[in-house]
Amino acid sequence: MQTIVLRGETDWDGWRQVARGLILAGVTPAALAWTVGGEATDVAAESSGFQVPRELVSLAALAIQAREPDRFSLLYKLFWRVNQGEKLLGGDPDPDLAAVRRMALAVRADAHRMRTHMRYLAVPEGGATRFVGWFEPAHFVLAANAQLIVRRFPDLALSIVTPDGAAHWDRSELRFGSGLREAADDAALRAWWDAERETLLREATLDVSVPEAEALDEISRPPDRAPLGPVVLHPKSDPALRDAANEAAVCQRCPLCAPATQTVFGEGPADAAAMFVGEQPGDQEDTIGRPFVGPAGQIMDRAMEEAGLDRRMVYVTNAVKHFKFTQRGKRRIHQTPEVPEIQACKFWLDVERVHLRPRLVVLMGASAARAGLGRGVTISRERGRQMRAPDGQTVFVTVHPSFLLRIPDAAAKAREYQAFVRDLGAIKALIVAEDRV
Ligand code: SF4
Repeated sequence: MQTIVLRGETDWDGWRQVARGLILAGVTPAALAWTVGGEATDVAAESSGFQVPRELVSLAALAIQAREPDRFSLLYKLFWRVNQGEKLLGGDPDPDLAAVRRMALAVRADAHRMRTHMRYLAVPEGGATRFVGWFEPAHFVLAANAQLIVRRFPDLALSIVTPDGAAHWDRSELRFGSGLREAADDAALRAWWDAERETLLREATLDVSVPEAEALDEISRPPDRAPLGPVVLHPKSDPALRDAANEAAVCQRCPLCAPATQTVFGEGPADAAAMFVGEQPGDQEDTIGRPFVGPAGQIMDRAMEEAGLDRRMVYVTNAVKHFKFTQRGKRRIHQTPEVPEIQACKFWLDVERVHLRPRLVVLMGASAARAGLGRGVTISRERGRQMRAPDGQTVFVTVHPSFLLRIPDAAAKAREYQAFVRDLGAIKALIVAEDRV
């Protein structure tokens, strides 16, 4: 019996090359054993190949990521049978094909779980932020899934840590290195990251054979989604608010929970003087699970800094906690929430406000203003001044930062940005004035 060594658990390219060469050389499935690690078996590349149905190739690219020791030999057997002229697809049920389908489905489900259950820590890195996520996959889905995640967030520095390994994206290259063997809560992950960060990033390599990510990209949301894991809030957040965030994670008060990835609860310190309310999470917030980390959050951060406000000292949240969108091809296009959705989600906004008791609630944009004031608001008319909500809460209306992103004319955009910074300056003055009382 000949033993074939592959470079890694998901060495799709290696497996394909070896399988093509050996099948064309007439080596039967029974004559082979497969293993991983050490020096990879080198089989002379064949210039010719043989036809395999595309559906079978896609299934194999998924199934090779299954944590099943016999997957390499099973896939070889299937491809061998195809080359022998057997029609595996569309005929009688075939036990080998059924086993590969089961593996592919399990991998898809695991990849979906990884994208929806992972929570990220925001870790300072050289004046910017790196998002470090932890997940324990059932299968070897890290490499292909990491490609998809960073493709959606090219501008964020990300690290995805698993027991099998870690993927690191620095906005230009995706590299792979060692992971964290033990299960980690937030504190353990943060301590490990702080201690190992430099070694991990230095030793990470580009040289990883990765199966086709596109096969994973076709994942649709399973209808029976499991409750989400613990929600990451600010270290200084109120424990009661953490409980509320965990309850909101499985909220079904309105239909927006169905297509969205997860509930995006607010975050910030328990003693925040101001609570900033936006409209709803965007595409990036929906995937990462944190508010204001996408383009609107970045412009808000910049404006806050110019106004002398420290984002870490305020609580940021949204009027609606699930992302509302329409799917256009692979893109998810933002949709404005309807009044009933804002009303349904006001339950959670009130929970946040009652726990935090902020001195000032900043309502950014029309949806937040409707939630906070209980009526339709023309932002241009009512922005820039302190008001009382019907429930007695002191509020301040301003534009939503995403409004600034949509202004096409550069001069108008610069003017509106400065007006936003002025509003933030006024908000800072109100908070400071209150501090002196
Ligand atoms: S949008 Fe708000 S009310 Fe609707 S399901 Fe999500 S958390 Fe619940």
